[in-house]
Amino acid sequence: MPERMLQFVSLPQQPPDKRPVAERRRDFSEIYRRFEAGEAAHQASRCSQCGVPFCSVHCPLGNDIPDWLKLTAEGRLEEAYELAAATNNFPEICGRICPQDRLCEGNCVIEKGYESVTIGAVERFITDNAFEQGWIKPRRPRRERGISVGIVGSGPAGIAAAEELRAQGYSVVVYERQDRPGGLMIYGIPNFKLEKEVVQRRIALLEEQGVRFRLNFEVGRDLSLAELRRRHGAVLLATGVYKPRELAAPGSGLDAIVPALEYLVAANRVGLGDSVPDFDSGVLDACGKRVVVIGGGDTAMDCVRTAVRQGARSVSCLYRRDRANMPGSAREVANAIDEGVEFIWLSTPKAFLGTESVGAVQGVRMRLGLTDSSGRQSVEPADAPPFRLPADLVIKALGFDPEDLHQGLADPDIALTRWGTLRVNHRTLMTNLPGVFAAGDIVRGASLVVWAIRDGRDAAAGIHAYLEAETASVAVAAE
Ligand code: FAD
Ligand code: SF4
Ligand code: SF4
Repeated sequence: MPERMLQFVSLPQQPPDKRPVAERRRDFSEIYRRFEAGEAAHQASRCSQCGVPFCSVHCPLGNDIPDWLKLTAEGRLEEAYELAAATNNFPEICGRICPQDRLCEGNCVIEKGYESVTIGAVERFITDNAFEQGWIKPRRPRRERGISVGIVGSGPAGIAAAEELRAQGYSVVVYERQDRPGGLMIYGIPNFKLEKEVVQRRIALLEEQGVRFRLNFEVGRDLSLAELRRRHGAVLLATGVYKPRELAAPGSGLDAIVPALEYLVAANRVGLGDSVPDFDSGVLDACGKRVVVIGGGDTAMDCVRTAVRQGARSVSCLYRRDRANMPGSAREVANAIDEGVEFIWLSTPKAFLGTESVGAVQGVRMRLGLTDSSGRQSVEPADAPPFRLPADLVIKALGFDPEDLHQGLADPDIALTRWGTLRVNHRTLMTNLPGVFAAGDIVRGASLVVWAIRDGRDAAAGIHAYLEAETASVAVAAE
């Protein structure tokens, strides 16, 4: 029975259930259960079908949300999937890990008190269901163009571009320095937010489509960018940002103070069945330890929640602003609190205490000051005595910067911004080197999967336009 729309007045918001805290603290499986078809239809029917849908305006992909909500409410699920897939290469991934409270759902105009439509959960349902029904097929090209494109990096920016370009008939090779494709979706984001099978299902589809992956292949080390340009008609750089920001406090060189990504990569590898010596030796295992995480973004939230699941004795998070000013998704902060993480807001480490290994963090209290030019309140030390927090493992989650790209790509000519990211023409996403494009975090700085997908799609369009305009094509045989 098709659902009527505009049901938000009588039908309350009902997000998918979360697994009980006691259960999810013990494993790394996703915490949200999936909607059943009836639930998805009900929740989709709450949409008021806005003429100017602010949800779509604030979705980086401009998804046609009201239309696929209506199709879901009417039970026309194959059409709903086709519409969702028309603007998004990986809707089931965005449905799981977009910070919807800051994007689509945070801008849903349903009046306050009635709560937004659960857009992300419906998007996830539509696509997971389409996989189960066998509606999702590799997008094989109608004809081969005989031109190849080399993509460096297999994160969401690289593989979204790969899918688009392959569908257009280009021969696509993705170079990846890791042993598995997927970028931060495999080695950064924990399984309890995004199960690895969900990403691997997409990679398998790309392989079936004809995209080729060269793993354990680092551009700059195994091949220079100049050589890569000779092999391919165009090159896309989608290498992400990986240099951790450092903490300049006395004692920060002590053992057992580790960068967030090192800790998360180890945890993800263990989950994938790899042997990780630093985990097996206990260095990167939080089990039985008093863990202190420093930072307030999504990476910090992933660290605290991973430590809980590894069986840490206690997990605390030090953040220099307050809860309202945390950069991480409000939903993930709430999940961390539910799972037993203690937040010490308005505090920052002043020193790390210990002889060889860290034994405690000496913290100072902060307070919010005047609003700066970016519109954010500044922070300054408060007039309060320092405090001491016992710690056996400290995880630094202060954000990421780009690595040295001139050195990393073995190309001194590529133009960088003053932040060290790649400089591109924002219309075409081409760098200063003809035929070399860039997308994702390496252009914007650390951002989101949904923005990386958007950039990957835009870069694919830029590359297609560039190659169409080029008269000389590079033969596939020259690879
Ligand atoms: P990446 O995903 O970083 O992929 C880049 C790839 O390039 C990597 O596989 C890397 O190995 C490879 N590479 C680099 N240099 C070379 C080279 N020279 N040769 C060959 N290969 C190379 N975003 C969300 O939307 N929601 C979340 O919940 C979320 N959680 C996050 C949690 C953590 C811990 C982190 C670190 C990030 C999170 N993000 C999240 C951000 C998101 O993961 C990134 O914005 C996104 O993955 C960027 O995509 P990308 O394709 O630009 O780069
Ligand atoms: Fe919302 Fe992300 Fe889906 Fe866009 S892609 S509709 S922002 S969940
Ligand atoms: Fe529907 Fe909310 Fe989007 Fe309006 S803003 S179209 S009510 S989901």
